[in-house]
Amino acid sequence: MTNMLRLLLVLIILPALSCTHRYVEVAKEGMSNYEIMVPADADSIVLRAASELQRYLHQISGANIPVADVNRRDPEKHAIFLGSGFNDEVISAHTIGYQAKEKDLYIYGGNPKNTLYAVYRFLEREQGCLWLSPEAEKVPETDRIVLDAATKYRYTPQIETRTVHSRLFYSNHTFADKLGVTYEAFPGYVPGAGVHTFHRFMPEGTYYKSHPEYYALRNGKRLTTQLCLTNEDVLRIVTDSVRSYFERFPDATVISVSQDDNTLHCQCDQCAAIDEEEGSPSGSMIRFVNSVAKQFPDKKISTLLTIDAMLGQNSFEQAKLFKESTNVDGIVLTKMDGTGKGGIVFSIAEQLQLPIAYISFGEKLEDLAPFDPEEYLTTLLG
Ligand SMILES: [Zn+2]
Repeated sequence: MTNMLRLLLVLIILPALSCTHRYVEVAKEGMSNYEIMVPADADSIVLRAASELQRYLHQISGANIPVADVNRRDPEKHAIFLGSGFNDEVISAHTIGYQAKEKDLYIYGGNPKNTLYAVYRFLEREQGCLWLSPEAEKVPETDRIVLDAATKYRYTPQIETRTVHSRLFYSNHTFADKLGVTYEAFPGYVPGAGVHTFHRFMPEGTYYKSHPEYYALRNGKRLTTQLCLTNEDVLRIVTDSVRSYFERFPDATVISVSQDDNTLHCQCDQCAAIDEEEGSPSGSMIRFVNSVAKQFPDKKISTLLTIDAMLGQNSFEQAKLFKESTNVDGIVLTKMDGTGKGGIVFSIAEQLQLPIAYISFGEKLEDLAPFDPEEYLTTLLG
């Protein structure tokens, strides 16, 4: 093909393309021909999503876009529909998305909270808003809010619960919402059964005297530091206890079946054989937790992957084994008082998509604190 011919083709095709290209113009020069539509029976969170969208679109463009329920729709106006009720498709409760259709825009989540998250993602991704801290945000200003007619975004997170244990979110709920992070420490959990639950299921005061064999064998002695995880009675008692907690708290969906922070695990012949086979002391723990979990197929059994900060890269291998075998829901970083500062935990959290739950600066329970990324980084860099 000669250069001349190529140039000719370009000249002909380009104008044709631009003619078919369509835009959704939400606001121009402080005016808008749109309404924010909420369902007639809108949840209070969806109403909040509507007022947040209204407030930010005004801040961005100067246009006042009214919020109305769908039964009072102004036929002269285009609509920004909020909530899942406007979407025919069946989506997961955790899915968020937005889409331009004809001249209308749909912003939706699988439940009211996720509709609120979808509004913030729309403002971030399409309008360039940034939520930097509870006090600092960037909201760009423009004369014209315009979207490509083909705008379509949908996201379903692989992890349903996004918990970051930090005062930053506990004390700033609006900011947490903007980042799509929960501000409850253990959402959906049986109250008080978030971590270190072995003692709760098998109080040593009740069992140790009559059944020392339920506890960890160390150098010929039974210690209450951990449980003997291959003892069938232990499995039965823990399973029964988990069942009675779920009966007492029927709305709870998760319970933790987890150990204390110490390395004094059971070394009886049966436990040691499994640990040898799995290549890690996590072996007996993983099998035990899976056996409990099998009895509760419609609930979640969480446990703790305890990573020793001194281990460095080795802990990654251990973590992979853990994830393959069970539904681990969090990472506890221990021994932060040592010289190894455990930076490895970030690559583990990222690659396995696990949240970091707790951090420990010693080996006792009192040393355990909710993980605060800011504080951790200060320690790591300090
Ligand atoms: Zn044992």
